[in-house]
Amino acid sequence: MGIKKVGLNKNVAPQSIVEKIFFLDFAKGLKTTIKHLFKRVITVDFPFEVIVPAIRFRGVHGLRNVDGTEPEDFASWVKKLKIKPPEKGETRCIACKFCQAACPVPEIFVIKAEKLDVPEDHPHHGLKVLTQFDMDLGKCMFCGLCTLACPTACIIHTDVYDLSSYTRRGAILNKEQLAKIADDFIARRGKEKFDEHSHWPDTQKVWPEYDLARAKAWDNNPPVFGPNYQDQE
Ligand code: SF4
Ligand code: SF4
Repeated sequence: MGIKKVGLNKNVAPQSIVEKIFFLDFAKGLKTTIKHLFKRVITVDFPFEVIVPAIRFRGVHGLRNVDGTEPEDFASWVKKLKIKPPEKGETRCIACKFCQAACPVPEIFVIKAEKLDVPEDHPHHGLKVLTQFDMDLGKCMFCGLCTLACPTACIIHTDVYDLSSYTRRGAILNKEQLAKIADDFIARRGKEKFDEHSHWPDTQKVWPEYDLARAKAWDNNPPVFGPNYQDQE
């Protein structure tokens, strides 16, 4: 196999002697570098610096506990699914698996509820509690469909984006970890995330109504979302 001969590119003018002596191309390149030295930096030196994502950012999931902001039909869902009515601070998850059904990658979820082992005359006899809720976020595409399907507004996206781990198993989160992520997120940004209609995650829409600037940036042809969108045009 011989070496392929490559000819000179006739479309590019050869460097003049002045350009060669004074490194004019080098100086031009340096000019661009120096210009950028004084511009605002838009990259961050992660993990030493972190950014705060927009509130509608679809980051690592969290599972919300009962805190008095459940949807109005929460009690009827609990009854329908024969779940032990959760106390304040216990998970809202009723193991309905709607999130899993809505997910394009259902094997991400392992959700189990088991009947309580109580005597027949106990008020909770025949009722179930959530015993397992695992998510393998290594397989997740963060599309948000699971959060929209949840009837109890339990599963949410948070602003956490660092999912790095040394093993694939590290991307599998259990219900305690997911609950902690949601708790921390709500303590940190709950006011921003949930308005007075807090039980429903409106701000998780891809293009919330108030985010017109970003919506318009979308190909100058923003998709229509929500009833108020057109009013603000
Ligand atoms: S964000 Fe999308 S891919 Fe990830 S768990 Fe939810 S529905 Fe599935
Ligand atoms: S949809 Fe909501 S309540 Fe139902 S299993 Fe998923 S997280 Fe739990």
